[in-house]
Amino acid sequence: MPGTAVNNADRPDQPHWKVEELLAGSWRGATSVLISNGRCHIVVDTGMPHEAHLLVKALENRGIGPADVRLVINTHFHIDHVLNGNLFGRSLIYATQHSFDWSRSLYSDLADGQNWEKLVLKYYPETLLHERARTHMANLRKLALRWWDVKRLGAPEQFRWIETHPLPEGIEAFVTSGHVPGHVSLLVSTGENVTVIAGDALLSREREEDERVATMIPHHSEQFRLDRARLLGLGDRILPGHDHEFTVVGD
Ligand SMILES: [Zn+2]
Repeated sequence: MPGTAVNNADRPDQPHWKVEELLAGSWRGATSVLISNGRCHIVVDTGMPHEAHLLVKALENRGIGPADVRLVINTHFHIDHVLNGNLFGRSLIYATQHSFDWSRSLYSDLADGQNWEKLVLKYYPETLLHERARTHMANLRKLALRWWDVKRLGAPEQFRWIETHPLPEGIEAFVTSGHVPGHVSLLVSTGENVTVIAGDALLSREREEDERVATMIPHHSEQFRLDRARLLGLGDRILPGHDHEFTVVGD
């Protein structure tokens, strides 16, 4: 829609959204999602640079170019979720400032070659309780040093913090801080059901599969457990952060 003011996307008058997987999540890659009402296209989580061409292709298969995307929403700033924001130069980019500040500070501390193992305990206080945490931390550090670059997120003037800027009608940000502080899952009213775009608050359909996902330990494991249970109670259809979508079967 060339020439349309970007702000028009904030309050589309057509509230019925359709939600589709653009890139299916797996143990090694995050789910990217399209929310669209036919006029306003929104991408949730953009993935990593090596997935950029796949994301663009998935959009083009639906007749959507990157310039047609009006909003990008980041569930959180783990590297596997956010590094193609710069593909969407005409989009507003929504995220929580809480999650952004927390992650930026974490990546900066991880770059401290001398002290990173100690510094990381500020962000992941449960590190010593998790058997595989040291491996996770070392991997996260490697990824952060290799890939983290705020320029890949998009330009600062595109950012809108969810704390102060409401999402379009029919899309609710639901804070799920167990994974990382300020993480949001999205509850989308489609007219037929409530679809949950979980981000990493719900990694896989089966809880046991979570172990296989190459992501971090929870910031707060009890909160993580509660977040997951709440999302399963709120939605009829769930798109996990690292698995295929599924339908919640009522009891
Ligand atoms: Zn994550």
